[in-house]
Amino acid sequence: MSTHIDVYANALKRLDLASGISSAHAETVQRLRQPKQFLEVSIPVRMDDGSLRVFTGYRCRYDDSRGPAKGGIRYHWDVSPSEVKALAFWMTFKCAVVGIPFGGGKGGIIVDPRSLSKAELERLSRGYIRAIAANIGPDIDVPAPDVYTNSLIMAWMMDEYSTIVGARQPGVITGKPVAMGGSLGRDDATARGGYDILHELQKMLGWEPKTKTVAVQGFGNAGETFAKFAHHDGYKVVAISDSKTALYNPSGLDIPAQAKHKAQTGSLLASGGQTITNAQLLELGVDLLVPAAVENVITDANAGKVKAKVILELANGPVTVEADAILHKAGVMVIPDILANAGGVTVSYFEWTQNKSGYYWTRDEVNTKLQAVMAREFHHVHKLSVEKGVPMRTAAYAHSLNRLGEALEGTGTQAIFGKGR
Ligand code: NAD
Repeated sequence: MSTHIDVYANALKRLDLASGISSAHAETVQRLRQPKQFLEVSIPVRMDDGSLRVFTGYRCRYDDSRGPAKGGIRYHWDVSPSEVKALAFWMTFKCAVVGIPFGGGKGGIIVDPRSLSKAELERLSRGYIRAIAANIGPDIDVPAPDVYTNSLIMAWMMDEYSTIVGARQPGVITGKPVAMGGSLGRDDATARGGYDILHELQKMLGWEPKTKTVAVQGFGNAGETFAKFAHHDGYKVVAISDSKTALYNPSGLDIPAQAKHKAQTGSLLASGGQTITNAQLLELGVDLLVPAAVENVITDANAGKVKAKVILELANGPVTVEADAILHKAGVMVIPDILANAGGVTVSYFEWTQNKSGYYWTRDEVNTKLQAVMAREFHHVHKLSVEKGVPMRTAAYAHSLNRLGEALEGTGTQAIFGKGR
């Protein structure tokens, strides 16, 4: 996770690349080079043995020109200010690329949550919310789960915030349990959004699923669900992996059987295929490669060996800037993370909308509205990429930057005020 220091530098490089083809004013780019607000807080927690520990937490509101900031809260020992800023920057562009009325935010606490009891975790989570309460809210900044945080933690946080303001406030946070105002369909939204994009691509390229092969790195929330969707539609999912094992079967893996085994034992079913390495999985000659695990897995060291025709980034930041250039030259289409995995935040927006209106949707309504957003924005980005002759990633950033520019420039730029007048 400390690699996010590089990822932030990469993100800013991508901003520069996008600014070359975006209609946004230079002042917009200037404003987006640093966060609007960055908080560092200390959180004293009474531990179960009676001792006191003081934890450090952060919350970044990177930009809120298009709507309240939106972004998760991470509990991890490697959380750092630069990582939080990088993730908040990404959220700003992710929300803009799909056109939902949110800005970008992110937060975190430096902690190994596995070493805390449930009661300590609850005190820490409530303490964090007390520390940042004045700077979050349904119309200010709306947190969500991230690494090592979940719906139970969101429930504690919403409860604490509601107590502070003296009124039930489900819209302060997303990723809540459904009974407390969470949205149906949020559980598989990230993979579904990626899959909605694959459908558009399939139509565009005339792909026949049965003749196409897929490799998925990471068999967790995003990767496993995506593999299930692809398998269900007839795609041949020939490789999957988790942090321990990678499996390959050229005739296609039995994904439901793998999912069942993973749920029961925590491991993949080794007898289902030949064991390969995670590095080899990335270099398979497949039609579609889906990195859905961790960042920086395709770098200048292995990008030249990637044989996939299309890469759909469900993970955040799996391809480095240097690798991007190599893949583009080789004709590999990369559907970038800020677009490919934006289904999750889109349904978080639906959750917030439902909380604000008090009117709740069916799972089908959620899925239909998500599909419309993902298809619309995929085609916007693809069109821009063709028109400008740039990779999909640059086009996605430029598309976001155009929208951010419209909002940030709504109060005027130098072009309106004139020089020195
Ligand atoms: P998860 O923890 O549910 O699953 C991660 C999977 O990756 C696990 O199977 C794990 O074993 C595997 N893994 C970990 N390290 C690996 C390694 N070095 N090599 C291969 N596999 C490895 O996480 P998730 O929620 O599915 O998130 C996966 C990625 O998708 C992350 O980059 C995350 O930021 C991104 N993402 C997730 C969501 C979401 O809603 N879940 C939304 C947007 C982006």
